Amino acid sequence: MKPFEEKGKPGLPRAIVVGSGAGGAAAARELQGSYQVTVLEAGREFRRLGLSMRWMERLRNWRLLVDERMIRLIFPAMRIRRGGDGLVHVNGAGTGGTTTLSAGNALRMDGSLRELGIDLDREFEELAREVPASTAHRRIWSAATRRLFELCEQAGLAPTPTPKMIDLERCHCCGRCVLGCPYGAKWDSRRFLDEAQAKGARLVTGCSVREVVIRGGRAVGVRARVGGRALFFPADLVVLSAGGLGTPAILERSGIPCEPRLFVDPVLCVAAPWPGSRQHHELPTPFVVQRPGYIISPYFDYLSFLFNRRWRRPAGRVLALMIKLADSENGSVPARGSGLDKRLTAEDRRRLAEAEALCRQILVRFGVDPASIFLGTLNAGHPGGMLPLTSAEAASLHPARLPANLYVADATLFPRSLGNPPILTIMALARKVARAAMACSAVRRPAA
Ligand SMILES: Cc1cc2nc3c(=O)[nH]c(=O)nc-3n(C[C@H](O)[C@H](O)[C@H](O)COP(=O)(O)OP(=O)(O)OC[C@H]3O[C@@H](n4cnc5c(N)ncnc54)[C@H](O)[C@@H]3O)c2cc1C
Ligand code: SF4
Repeated sequence: MKPFEEKGKPGLPRAIVVGSGAGGAAAARELQGSYQVTVLEAGREFRRLGLSMRWMERLRNWRLLVDERMIRLIFPAMRIRRGGDGLVHVNGAGTGGTTTLSAGNALRMDGSLRELGIDLDREFEELAREVPASTAHRRIWSAATRRLFELCEQAGLAPTPTPKMIDLERCHCCGRCVLGCPYGAKWDSRRFLDEAQAKGARLVTGCSVREVVIRGGRAVGVRARVGGRALFFPADLVVLSAGGLGTPAILERSGIPCEPRLFVDPVLCVAAPWPGSRQHHELPTPFVVQRPGYIISPYFDYLSFLFNRRWRRPAGRVLALMIKLADSENGSVPARGSGLDKRLTAEDRRRLAEAEALCRQILVRFGVDPASIFLGTLNAGHPGGMLPLTSAEAASLHPARLPANLYVADATLFPRSLGNPPILTIMALARKVARAAMACSAVRRPAA
């Protein structure tokens, strides 16, 4: 197997970071300088979906889009797998990982980590300066969103405007956040990746990591495929940030078993026909209602719009509320292949039904005909939990079953589902993991 040619700063130890999404970009940026970092990313450079709404409607109406997995034909940066219970799993594959597909929601959600004794205050404070988030977008809400917000307030649901990592001055309210922002208004982790590269980190795209090579109890590098070639990337430190589905698969292939505790935060949209709703032309998820075990937010669901037969209507005439569930930690990712073993438990189904009933009530109060309400495709895009940290690992942030110089920096470490947008929390944790790795190897940053 060919070793990867080294061209880095001489004298620095080498770190491999796998994945360039929320966790990978945050870790790479932190490590570069103390290490010569190489980021290995399975996807290519991110390209947004440029197809206009008119063309999307045509493709759909011509019935050319029959299976969600076909999305990669028109949008290679979005990958879809099918799991049990008809669940459709969505993730990003390209520079920026899934952050390029995000709705731009920026919430701090570290309660379960804090319970373990992990203090991320410093990291969140830093992120607040570097990734500005704003709730000052009420002025650009549509009439339908304002009305929904009022109804939720009247029902005592305490809705709050969602903090958005979006530069509102540059935002055109095009509603295409999850297809990639055409105007550079939405923050995604490519910004951290660029900063890491500006400091000297290298990025290899189209590089799919197969396994971590472990010798004498230490990680000595990773094996990967790049353009059909098998390559070995030597390393002094390996950080896995391939996401909640990618990282456990790499660990399993490396002979390190994970735990069958996969959560995914299932999403279900409850929708109704409503002329002039224009949800596809405004910020997605403009406000959020937090309930025990789930959240509710207005959302135009492109996945259902493109692939679900019930959604074959003009985009501007659909009004939808999204449910995002904090599901049970119950499921697993195979080491090979794309099938996932993830099913909803009876308790998950109970909570989903409760949330659906609440959404129906809100829509009926809004004025829709109860008989016209229809559901979206059950999908999920916040995977994690398969190597959960314990309180014994709160200081080291290093799961005991890993070799000393192998770390994980993504939602795989979360002890339970957040049921909420995780990007900020993943980045705060990844940054702290990188710091823990540096402290552990006693590497000192060179003087500026
Ligand atoms: C449609 C959608 C909207 C969302 N909106 C929001 C939001 O508004 N706010 C929020 O906080 N969260 C949102 N999320 C969730 C959020 O984007 C993800 O949870 C987050 O990006 C996960 O970060 P990560 O670093 O763990 O993984 P990712 O960002 O998924 O990055 C993992 C990277 O690793 C790469 N990779 C995987 N396997 C390998 C391998 N074997 N070798 C090399 N590279 C590999 C992948 O290609 C990918 O680029 C959304 C998710 C979806 C699907
Ligand atoms: S609404 Fe459009 S312009 Fe605004 S952040 Fe989202 S994609 Fe970018």
